[in-house]
Amino acid sequence: MPEPRIVDLSDEAAAVVDHDWHVADESGLLDVGSKFAEAFCIGVNSEPNRVALVRDEGMSREEYLLSITPGQVEVRAAHRPGFMHALATIDHLRDGAMLPVGTIHDWPRLPVRGLQLMVESIRQLREDSIRELVRSAARHKLNALLIEFGDRFPFEGEHEVVASQSALTRPQLRRIIDEARDLGLEIIPLVQCMGHLEYLLRHDEYADIREEDEVRAQLCPSNPRSLQVWAELTEQILDFVGPCARVHIGGDETRQLGHCPRCATRAETAGVGRLYADHVNGVCEWLAQREIAPIIWDDILCAHPDTMDHLHEAAEVMYWDYWTTQDPSPLLVARGSGSVVYDERWDTEWEGGLSEVTRRTLERFARPVHLDQDLTEAYLKVYRDYLGDSLPRYVRALPYLEYYQDRGRTVYGAPTCSGNHSFWHTLPDLPRHGENIKVFADRCIEAEAAGLITTAWYNRSPELLHFGIVATAQFTW
Ligand SMILES: [Zn+2]
Repeated sequence: MPEPRIVDLSDEAAAVVDHDWHVADESGLLDVGSKFAEAFCIGVNSEPNRVALVRDEGMSREEYLLSITPGQVEVRAAHRPGFMHALATIDHLRDGAMLPVGTIHDWPRLPVRGLQLMVESIRQLREDSIRELVRSAARHKLNALLIEFGDRFPFEGEHEVVASQSALTRPQLRRIIDEARDLGLEIIPLVQCMGHLEYLLRHDEYADIREEDEVRAQLCPSNPRSLQVWAELTEQILDFVGPCARVHIGGDETRQLGHCPRCATRAETAGVGRLYADHVNGVCEWLAQREIAPIIWDDILCAHPDTMDHLHEAAEVMYWDYWTTQDPSPLLVARGSGSVVYDERWDTEWEGGLSEVTRRTLERFARPVHLDQDLTEAYLKVYRDYLGDSLPRYVRALPYLEYYQDRGRTVYGAPTCSGNHSFWHTLPDLPRHGENIKVFADRCIEAEAAGLITTAWYNRSPELLHFGIVATAQFTW
């Protein structure tokens, strides 16, 4: 479990919560008492020893105080998440009916802590695997799931053709979503609004909204039906999932931006950033009208900083970087200026000064440059102030966190537990993923970001995703 903040437990004394105990429920919450009773296999009745659930309005949303004596287990919290986290802690601590005597006072360091579930991926996660991941996420006190359904959502009616043969059924999806919500996990659906839409655009029914016919991956942002189709698909998902506070609209890696004749003209006159923002803003406005916060991947915003001047005020930013493994970092993701780079002196005069993980990451993903000469003037004009004082040797890790915040944006960090192939003794590069999640979490906590969602791509076994859950839980709590 994520390590609790303040722990004072006895090595010797224990409480034995057996059938002589009962739950005294003063939480004022509908189902919390029965969940504790079920966990201990005891009743909500009048036996002398108590599991006392006490509402304490002075505590924050996810905070709890657990006090264990030989005759009483007291849980204080203000809200359901606090009680649920206390129950998860009890589950980790207990040895059968025995609990160590002492106190735990606990609360998380980041408000949103989550994992991406790429239901659409080649692995085609099945209901049982998904639900096991959902339970594991909750056991480790995560509170959000970013779910990309793609063509595995059971679309109906006019868009029935989009649902693949392996789409989850409505009853399967219902069970997954209901269980996640019951365990306190917020569902954040991800519905791509421009690129990465192969699952949609491969169908001839959507030929008119393809940006180009050869690579059928991207919607044409100049075609009004693009927004309409996106809205209709999203509406089906929202109708099924139920109320959502946030929806992720994707928007990353729109590599065909400006390819069709209509978009090419607009890109030439108004700029690529404007072309992108105009479409994205329509999507954001559709969500804002429904009081849903739109979240967007940051890579296009970063590569085309002019986009920031036009972006809808409701848009929140999810900043992804899968290569940064330490702070300060020799590696810089300089979007729009050579991408992933490091100073070439790390290969000569500074050689030997890096950890094995960072060295491996540089060799696999980054390009050696003269970091004090090769960054473009346009890039430095926007971002220099955020890179720290140790250039060219190091940059401040994840420098764009404060850049987006300074522009008034709510920011979420997005490391990965399965992304961009590199290997560690033939296994996926778990040490890189672990360090990436750790440094991203530390920086998000330092910058007081809104949260962190660990991404999980690629065709890997579901068991590997549990590493992402555990690492995210530990480093964000
Ligand atoms: Zn176009």
